[in-house]
Amino acid sequence: MPDLRQTLKTLKTLKSLQELDRDLYRLQDELKRFPQEVTRKREKLRVESERLAEVVKKLTETKVRLKEIEDLTTGQRVRVRKLEHEASESRADAALLVAFQHEIRGLKRDIGEAEEEGLGMLGEIERLSAERVALQAVVAELEKEFSLYSTNIDKESKHTMDRAQAMERERKKRVGAELPPDVLGQYEKLLASREGQAMAELDKRVCQGCYVSVPNNIYVRLARCTELVHCPSCGRILFLREA
Ligand SMILES: [Zn+2]
Repeated sequence: MPDLRQTLKTLKTLKSLQELDRDLYRLQDELKRFPQEVTRKREKLRVESERLAEVVKKLTETKVRLKEIEDLTTGQRVRVRKLEHEASESRADAALLVAFQHEIRGLKRDIGEAEEEGLGMLGEIERLSAERVALQAVVAELEKEFSLYSTNIDKESKHTMDRAQAMERERKKRVGAELPPDVLGQYEKLLASREGQAMAELDKRVCQGCYVSVPNNIYVRLARCTELVHCPSCGRILFLREA
């Protein structure tokens, strides 16, 4: 005959285990999340640092280009002055004068265009400089945050690990020698697949793990208390409040 007392005892052990395992599961979940959070923060820092590097690069390139334009126009201005001087010395030669004036007009037009381009670049340099300052502040803040978080997380996970280890020891005690290995195996499989909740109360024929109503025969078998009964829907080990 199926043993009523044995089933009750097994259920009692499982319930006391479940109480502990719920918290243990949460701790282990926390421990898993710590490195994920570190990775997330490191990634954020990397993205902002890259944006900063990109802005610095653009800023440098724009400054180099501006310098090139300035050097070019300086040379063109010297050339204009030289041509103006030569033109004034050759007033007698009308054809030559026309040629000089033609070249001077061309050069002045080029200088005007270059100055306009240079002005646009000055605006761009101003904009990029402001962006660089803002990004530098963002990166510095993220670096500070990351280093603080890393330090805290080390302490935190050490603390959590200590707690988890203490709970593991308590768990071993509770498992004791009383639980049949196949029952423990089933229970632990459920623990893993049901996010730390291997057991569920049956309340008014509704499983409190998945909130699905169970057929009457499940309730009858559970009330008889001669075997472990699983919820047909979520598979959790069921118990009644009185049990
Ligand atoms: Zn269920």
